[in-house]
Amino acid sequence: MANSSKIKSINQINIADKRVFLRLDLNAPLEDGKVADDTRLLAALPTINYALARSARVILASHLGRPKGKVDKKYSLEPVAARLAELLDHDVLLSDYPVGDTSKKLVHELRSGDILLLENLRFDPGETKNDEAFAQELASYTDIYINDAFGTAHRAHASTAGMIPFVKGESGVGLLMQKELDALSPLLDNPKQPFVAILGGAKVSDKIKLINNLFDHCQTILIGGAMAYTFLKAQEKEIGASRFEVEQLLLAHQLIQKAQLHNVELVFPVDHIVATEISAEAQTRHVFDHFGPDEMGLDIGPKTVALFSEYILKAENIFWNGPMGVFELEPFAAGTKAIAEQLAQAKAYTVIGGGDSASAAKKFGVQEKIDHISTGGGASLAFLEGRELPALKALRDAQNSRRASE
Ligand code: AMP
Repeated sequence: MANSSKIKSINQINIADKRVFLRLDLNAPLEDGKVADDTRLLAALPTINYALARSARVILASHLGRPKGKVDKKYSLEPVAARLAELLDHDVLLSDYPVGDTSKKLVHELRSGDILLLENLRFDPGETKNDEAFAQELASYTDIYINDAFGTAHRAHASTAGMIPFVKGESGVGLLMQKELDALSPLLDNPKQPFVAILGGAKVSDKIKLINNLFDHCQTILIGGAMAYTFLKAQEKEIGASRFEVEQLLLAHQLIQKAQLHNVELVFPVDHIVATEISAEAQTRHVFDHFGPDEMGLDIGPKTVALFSEYILKAENIFWNGPMGVFELEPFAAGTKAIAEQLAQAKAYTVIGGGDSASAAKKFGVQEKIDHISTGGGASLAFLEGRELPALKALRDAQNSRRASE
């Protein structure tokens, strides 16, 4: 698989005493000026500690929220710097702007074992615009560039892609990114069959490329969530007032035909939990195919759970993305919960592609039993769509041109 071919990892690069720029994903939720959930910070620790243990001069960089290219105190990395300092038991300096005189001075003064966190990269409009001057300035701060932010690897921003060709020394991936690539690559690299994909969530339109690429790799695709209703409608099944995408009906029809050509089995819900309102107090009904005109399918029913479970328990590889129903609300959570529990029991190699399915695994207490839960929803989908992630492409190109000039 092109995406995973040998980009150097931090542990193959000599970083001792050098300036090392670590592009991390420290985009943590904040509440009352504090980090409310430090999962992303904890995930970044191994690479930071690795660099500290080699006496590197560590420059950390991340975005936080969407400040839209302007300084906005609400999105300051200050709480992140404070929490990181606690977690690392080490001082973390914070600059007041990602680039400019203060950052330059602080970078210049870094000694071995020091840590500097640059202020929110998205305070500067150059970050998301992938502006060359901004990218060059970031690159001038460092000897070595390491990307450990899998969650933004599908975006070509200055800190994830643009700066890489301007870095003096070597570049590569961090330990977290390496773990993601090692975990996701086996699914596209001649996986042992049956490889079963479970897709759900709101929209077919978000998953078209994914489904198309999965046709080349998996044997079965189980489809739940609202997206199932577009497929059921395309097959002229009754769906009552269930949510579906009218503009995707033709495409759903084509995907069903394409699946047959590829010998891929598409499996749809055979029963549903329906209600006339999406609320925690909703009265539900279990139906097979007789929906009332106002009734929406909001979860898969028990027969569907049993049907999907048969495939899950026989699988050798499983990829899950998207909830089976409106799992956030108690009356419609049972289907997603049951599928999460089946995944936990499966003998298969199991991967969850971030986002809502990752929250569901956490909510239903099965995350320890899943082989890999990706830290990047969008990035893991882009990876499984077979797209080369821009951050990885930039690293590979830089590595190739370095080799060519050596
Ligand atoms: P996505 O972001 O595409 O993974 O979609 C996740 C959202 O889809 C969740 O917030 C679910 O509540 C919602 N969802 C799942 N199943 C249904 C359904 N049958 N009807 C309406 N919304 C749904």
